[in-house]
Amino acid sequence: MQPPATSNRCKICSTPLFAFLSLGRMPIANAFLSGEDLLKPEFFYHLEAGYCPGCHMVQLLTVIPYEMYLRPDQQQKRNYLFFSSTSSHMAQHFSEFAAEITGFLKPDSLVLDVGSNDGITLQAFDRQKYRVLGIEPAHNVAEIARGKGIETLTEFFTEQLAEQIVRTKGKARAILSSNVILNIADLNAVMRCINILLEDDGIFVFEDPYLPLILQNNTYDQFYDEHIYYFTAHAIASLVQRHGMVLFDARQQEVHGGSMRFYIKRRQNISIPISPRLAELLYQEEQQGLASFDAYRTFASRADASRRELIALLRQLKSQGKRIAGYAAASKGTIVTNYCKLTPDIIEYVADSTPEKQGLYTPGMHIPVVSPEHFRSDHPDYAVVFAWNHIKEIMEKEQEYLGTGGRFIVPFPRVRII
Ligand SMILES: [Zn+2]
Repeated sequence: MQPPATSNRCKICSTPLFAFLSLGRMPIANAFLSGEDLLKPEFFYHLEAGYCPGCHMVQLLTVIPYEMYLRPDQQQKRNYLFFSSTSSHMAQHFSEFAAEITGFLKPDSLVLDVGSNDGITLQAFDRQKYRVLGIEPAHNVAEIARGKGIETLTEFFTEQLAEQIVRTKGKARAILSSNVILNIADLNAVMRCINILLEDDGIFVFEDPYLPLILQNNTYDQFYDEHIYYFTAHAIASLVQRHGMVLFDARQQEVHGGSMRFYIKRRQNISIPISPRLAELLYQEEQQGLASFDAYRTFASRADASRRELIALLRQLKSQGKRIAGYAAASKGTIVTNYCKLTPDIIEYVADSTPEKQGLYTPGMHIPVVSPEHFRSDHPDYAVVFAWNHIKEIMEKEQEYLGTGGRFIVPFPRVRII
């Protein structure tokens, strides 16, 4: 396994980075620990993000190798704990994505999904009309996709694999990806793969969290080990241009707290016009100071203020004898608890509905994870919601807790009690 690598140079263009955000000593966000693990040394690194003045790309300074957050099972196969299809809201989102892409396809076109997870996007394509192929390095989720009849290669996205696919299946008319590109350390290599695989008039469309929304909502907890990059339209336009391609559109999506779907084509493909929406987005980014240091410097000081505010509130409640829990053992919670140093004497436990996480301890702060049933019967006075992006669903599910005097604390965009 490769060790974590730290550099203060841009991973795309080698320009020295302007490091603007430091969230301190951090464990792997999804590395929940068993009681036995607590006795062993835990891995920590310094979570720091930088802005590249050369190509506008915001990125982590330390890259944690993929192998460190994919859990090998007894047969040493890579597994991933996040299943795309668990949320019905996400299933609908991806079926709309597929419907939109279908407009670009011809009969028998090949559609690729990079990081296809359990096949949630590809299953929405009419497989009588189009050929679909998933690429998914995690065995457990790839197996679920195959169970649905979706051909899936359990491989990393490399140039060698791209050439192999072209040899066996031909080139792709559409290459898709959702919440994956931001995890790949070598984005120049990704673009080389796209160049190998894409038909001359094909499109590469991917969506990932949109950095300006992270800055706007002050959600510093979206910075974590799996997300190496944080995208603006400026950064994507610059990246793809290095590889003979053009960003021709970008559309905002209401998932994961606000994502952007980016549309890319080859430079010589003049059949697709550049969308006026993209010009507007680039203009807005400039107005917000995202093409210079300013916006990033301001964000870092707001993250620090948010931390102080949350700590002050929790300390005040503790001094009044109140009991506080956490809600949702999400990776975001690992960032908040470690950045704010919320130990089990402040947050007694975290409730989570994932059975695999119950009985474990949160990374770094070692807060026990319990079931929502335990949370409801124990009824602590307050619960800090770590999955703020699902706050509506959580409030509906916990009406009884709220109706009987329980209160949620939401850390973003401003610390508030509901
Ligand atoms: Zn750069």
